[in-house]
Order: sequence, then C-alpha cells, then structure tokens
Amino acid sequence: MEIVRQVSDIIKFREKELTKHTIGFIPTMGALHKGHISLVERSVNENTYTIVSIFVNPKQFNDSSDFINYPVTIESDLELLKKSKCDLVFIPEAKDIYQDYYGFKMDFDGLDKIYEGEFRPGHFQGVVDIVYRLFDIIKPHNSYFGEKDFQQLAVIKLMVSKSRLNINVIPCEIVREESGLAMSSRNERLSIEERKNAAEIYYVLNKVKNNIQIGDSPERLIVEISEEINQNAFLKTEYVAFCNPISLKPVLSFTQNSVVRLCCAIWCGKIRLIDNISLQF
Ligand code: AMP
Repeated sequence: MEIVRQVSDIIKFREKELTKHTIGFIPTMGALHKGHISLVERSVNENTYTIVSIFVNPKQFNDSSDFINYPVTIESDLELLKKSKCDLVFIPEAKDIYQDYYGFKMDFDGLDKIYEGEFRPGHFQGVVDIVYRLFDIIKPHNSYFGEKDFQQLAVIKLMVSKSRLNINVIPCEIVREESGLAMSSRNERLSIEERKNAAEIYYVLNKVKNNIQIGDSPERLIVEISEEINQNAFLKTEYVAFCNPISLKPVLSFTQNSVVRLCCAIWCGKIRLIDNISLQF
C-alpha cells in the first residue's frame, strides 16, 4: 500500500501510473472503523485501484473544540486499510492542500441552511471545499460516501452535478454497532454509560419505522420522537426531520408508495451524534 503526503506527488503518480485504472476514492477524516472500511471494501470490489484520503479538514468544523478533540489514530488506520486491500492512502497537510486554493463556490439550493446546515453554519461549505479539491487532485471514476451523513451525500451529489464533474457518487449503507448505534469516530469519545444509552437513538428510529402509518402527522411525530429521546437523561435532541430522500425538503404528509428519510441529530453528553433511517410507505 502506497502512502503519499504531498499534493504534487499524488498528482504526478496519478498522471504517470494510474491512467489505465478505474479509480475508486473514499475521503475520510481517519479514526477509521468498520463503517469506513465497508466503503473501502466496496471500492476494492468495484474498481482496479482504491485511494483513501485521511485529512481532518479544519474548514468543516464549526466547533473548534470538536476539531481539537477529533480522534487521530493513524497507525491503526493504516493497518485497517492495508488489510482491506486499499492501494494508496493520501495524508495531506492543510497548508499544502489549501495552498493557492480558496474553495469551491456554488449555490446549495438551500441545502446548507437546513438540518445540519442550520446547526453547523459553514459546515457544508467546508465539506464542499475539501471534497472538490480532493476530486480535482485524484480524479476518481467512483467515489463512496456513507448514508450515515445523509445530508452530506446530497450536498456532494449536488456539487458534482453543478460542477459537471464526471464522477459517480455511490451511497453506502450505514454500518452499526451491535447495539444499533451508528458507527462513528466520535463514539470513541463517549463514556461506557453514554455509549450504552446512545443506542436508544436507533431503537427509537427503528420503532418509528415499524409503526408509522400514512395518516400520521409528521409534525406531531417529530414532537413525540424528540420527547421520547429526551426522556433518556443522557440524550438531548437537536433536530428530528422527515425529509424527501433526494431534495431533502421537509415532508409535510406521508403518501402511498413514497420513501421518506427520518434524520436526527442528538447530543449525548458533549458529543453530537447523527443518524437516519429510510421509511417506505
Ligand atoms: P468521516 O471520516 O466521518 O468524514 O467519514 C468518511 C466517510 O465514511 C463518509 O462518507 C461517512 O459517511 C462514512 N461513514 C462514517 N461512518 C459510517 C458508518 N457508520 N456507516 C457507513 N459509512 C460511514
């Protein structure tokens, strides 16, 4: 497995050695777990060359303490990647990757103002800035993103379509811990007690999935879901939303044969967790 740190080196390598390959790419912030690895394995199956980037992107953190405390586990990340047959890991530094690059401007069609965007101002601009830059350097054919970050996936699809990049954005299912808690690098910062209680988020989402009916009021359900989650002393709801899985617009009623995504952000102690589930009517 190649390890490349310099932007100029990966550009040269891409131009010289990879012209005949189908390239799969997975951008990550490291502290890798089975969720990330599921994306890598899918890429390894579907492409002749897989590149993973590890870069904790300062621009996408609206909360500086979240950035400072973001886990860094580079040695074990490299082991996991080697085992999963990743071909190349790109580990750039901020000053190199952002040198003479001031970001990618686009109209988010309002996607950056709702849900995650409302509570994390500037977050999606930071995401688009780094992913556009990485796409430009790596020029992958296929890129893999987890449905865990459902809104991010929608933003990346929008960016690719607006900038007319010829890159497939491939959504990958959420990988969960045995308890049901969506795997996340931030789970490592939960105490044992918090981690146990955080499993209630998926329990509630799944209960809604199993019981929801066409005549139910989304507005009323949002209140009930928030109340149920908040009853757990470890959890505090930031938002709960029923949305169209493509436009992400809020769903005002449930209709026959429709698919709706139920998304939420929940604080567990000092850690902010997000999760979502697909509902079929
Ligand atoms: P991150 O390192 O958090 O930026 O995540 C890198 C990629 O891995 C993103 O596309 C995430 O959506 C994806 N990812 C993170 N956690 C999971 C998970 N539990 N299941 C599936 N994909 C995930």
